Amino acid sequence: MIDTKAIEEHIRGILIALGDDPEREGLKDTPKRVAKMYEEVFEGMNYSNHEIAEMFGKTFEEGFENIDPDRVVVVKDIDIFSYCEHHIALMYDMKANVAYIPKGRVIGLSKIARICDMVAKRLQLQEKIGSDIADVISEITGSDDVAVTIEACHSCVSARGIKKENVRTFTAELRGRFKNEPALQLYLK
Ligand SMILES: [Zn+2]
Repeated sequence: MIDTKAIEEHIRGILIALGDDPEREGLKDTPKRVAKMYEEVFEGMNYSNHEIAEMFGKTFEEGFENIDPDRVVVVKDIDIFSYCEHHIALMYDMKANVAYIPKGRVIGLSKIARICDMVAKRLQLQEKIGSDIADVISEITGSDDVAVTIEACHSCVSARGIKKENVRTFTAELRGRFKNEPALQLYLK
């Protein structure tokens, strides 16, 4: 579990290292606030991918007589936030698209968004968020045909260093048929 007391102490140390006074009015509750925020935005660090799969793993039998092998489930434009592990900087304007081909079991659509949210609440890399989401969806649905694309702005790029404000990063995790059949990739556009 996340040690909020230790986060408070370290944030206080950073304020001092920055040359500020952690006792002044505007800062005196900052360590506590940051610790509380971290507890929320890093909630996913408390769980492995497997545990997230168990948490949101309720599936429904499809119940179709003939399972159509070409039926694709796509959930698009899921808003998520994350923090990059290199700078602990916010990745924002982040949208995930998730697609899979059911193998007789389907997952509730709202659960897909919850999975994306929880996986993103870790110190992350954009490409790792995609592969973590694919791992969880694959474990729950038993399907190897899974794809996740993500588009995001990284504040460590837009607000410092080279300051390219409008740069958006696109990543794709394509597995199974999504990797081999370009026609299926159109669903993620
Ligand atoms: Zn970064």
